[in-house]
Amino acid sequence: MSSFGSIGGLRNFTIFGKTSPYVNVEKPPGHSPLPQSWTSWFKSTITGSYFIFSPNLIWFVVSFLVYHIFPFKYEPCKDLQSIKVRQYFLQRFFIHLVVVGGYYSFWFASLYYKSCSRRKFRGQVKKDNSNFTTTYVTPPNYPSTKSMVHNIWYWMLGILQWTCWEVAVVHLYATNKIIIPNEADLYLVIGIAVVPIWRGFHFYFSHRFLHIRPIYRFVHSLHHRNVDIEPFAGLTMHPVEHLYYFACLAPTIWLGGSPFLLLWNGYHLLLSPAASHSGWEDHFQSDQFHYLHHAKFECNYGSASMPFDFTSNTFQDKLQPGTKSLQILEDKKNNHVSLHRTPLIEWKDVMPAKKVDMIYIISNVIIFYILFDRVAFNGDWSVPLSAHSMGILVGFGPVIVAVLLRWCVGDKFSIRWPFHKERIVGKFGLHLILGILLTCWPTFQLVELITR
Ligand SMILES: [Zn+2]
Ligand SMILES: [Zn+2]
Repeated sequence: MSSFGSIGGLRNFTIFGKTSPYVNVEKPPGHSPLPQSWTSWFKSTITGSYFIFSPNLIWFVVSFLVYHIFPFKYEPCKDLQSIKVRQYFLQRFFIHLVVVGGYYSFWFASLYYKSCSRRKFRGQVKKDNSNFTTTYVTPPNYPSTKSMVHNIWYWMLGILQWTCWEVAVVHLYATNKIIIPNEADLYLVIGIAVVPIWRGFHFYFSHRFLHIRPIYRFVHSLHHRNVDIEPFAGLTMHPVEHLYYFACLAPTIWLGGSPFLLLWNGYHLLLSPAASHSGWEDHFQSDQFHYLHHAKFECNYGSASMPFDFTSNTFQDKLQPGTKSLQILEDKKNNHVSLHRTPLIEWKDVMPAKKVDMIYIISNVIIFYILFDRVAFNGDWSVPLSAHSMGILVGFGPVIVAVLLRWCVGDKFSIRWPFHKERIVGKFGLHLILGILLTCWPTFQLVELITR
């Protein structure tokens, strides 16, 4: 049973310096096998410890405060082409920049400037014989200025896109396309408890979908430019990935429900990647599970909170020297993914490596521009498009273009790689259908609703 000292995921009321119980501190960071089982998942869900004794509680408190201190305003969102909505949009963007940015900066400064933790997953180790703890010789691997400019830029695009999603859904509430229920209903209490579980479910299927070869190549490889991660790398995503990441708002689009659930779900999406991408083993939300995903690529697609990978045979429990990702080797030849073993992102990693990469970028700029023009301006660019076609263009367009471009230029890897050994009518098909239903489909529905 979890003790009171681990409320909110804290370890004896401390944020930094203590490892999770599974960690053997005599081993280098990342080398203790991570326990995973559905039994322990079930236990923590039934007892509620996944909420009370985990960082979920902290993120919930932040969401609660933001919701009440900066409440949604429905009136300005009725007309998305009005001046009022533009002012409201800027206010919301600023609030999220400050609150979410403050949280990320806290982690970055504590770990990389104040050295509040001692066990970096990757770095130079020494063993202290007196107390058998393994500590890092400073300085640890620091992200370069270039890496940070890169990461903070895409992080900020994430905050910008979240503001778009938020304002769009508030517009749906304001125009009664989604009905606001009684705040005190049972649905709200259940919804609050379900959000972290839903996040784990959505993340596994949507993230695995992004790893299918064409989508990985044009979209998700950007997130994987960071091999040795730091907090801001958590939201460093291609704008198309942000789109499918925020599609986690699907239950609000499908079922409606309290606007608080919109913000709670959103803030879970915004805050949880910070410490899970920290790169360190000894703090209250250290995440060896996702660290291994960035280090090895073809494993741990879900999150430590929900053991889907354990069932899918894609689970890796610790850092193992010598295992190499085929994708890293292949992309090294194609030069379109960062291969650095340290978090140093170079100019060449950011530039489109081939013509098709450039074409993909241009296609998405056109898609986003058409959407923006239709929603916020006079819609000159989308006159012949029905709301349904707009939904298909934005929801499915980025995936269709990625598949077509891959087909045009060829690829020695299977289109299903790295899941090519799975049966199409079976494991692969099931994951694909769920992946589409949880990413493209909610995006299609949102766009269809707001352009209707
Ligand atoms: Zn990934
Ligand atoms: Zn990541």
